[in-house]
Amino acid sequence: MLSEEVTDLLQNSDFDDSSGEDGSENYVLIPTPRGGNLLMWRGYTYSEMTGKYICSAYKSRGCKARLKLDRDGKIVLVQGEHYHDPPNYFKTHSGNYVKLYK
Ligand SMILES: [Zn+2]
Repeated sequence: MLSEEVTDLLQNSDFDDSSGEDGSENYVLIPTPRGGNLLMWRGYTYSEMTGKYICSAYKSRGCKARLKLDRDGKIVLVQGEHYHDPPNYFKTHSGNYVKLYK
């Protein structure tokens, strides 16, 4: 099951909600069946879109938070702020709901 794989990935990552700015480069990339990636950072998920990662709440809530990675995969640009709480669950492109562990 994809959801089990993803939760294992999240649990094994160094994801730490309490980290400050110094931990801003820690994120988790979750491959999607469509060939893109879902990026999770600080508990928020972002959808890959033409080289940028846009908050997954963009469509449903109009959240304009987004970030950009350089060629080495480092977060080089963060724009906007989330005005919603991080999702406890998010839906993958394959339709699975995945619970986020902290
Ligand atoms: Zn957002």
